[in-house]
Amino acid sequence: MEPFSAPSYRHNRQRCKGNEMPCAHCGKGCVKPWKLAVRVVEGGARYATKDEVEGRVAVDEGGDMGCWPVGGGCAVKLENAGVYVFTQEETSQ
Ligand SMILES: [Zn+2]
Repeated sequence: MEPFSAPSYRHNRQRCKGNEMPCAHCGKGCVKPWKLAVRVVEGGARYATKDEVEGRVAVDEGGDMGCWPVGGGCAVKLENAGVYVFTQEETSQ
């Protein structure tokens, strides 16, 4: 499953408020602190693997899009598709 690929993504993303980041799957706004997150690499082509998120495998920095929030329902869909979803309680400034 590719990031930003839900049919509703573009529509939902346009409705995000200034303090929200779009869910990496469906685009719905998420306010920090995010509960669940994913990391997007290769310029948005795919989600990072667990090894990449945890630093055991290097990520190409040029295409690293960093961490994105995911909603609870989307997290289940992504995990079922084999995507590594992690808990992100910390709010980075
Ligand atoms: Zn979502």
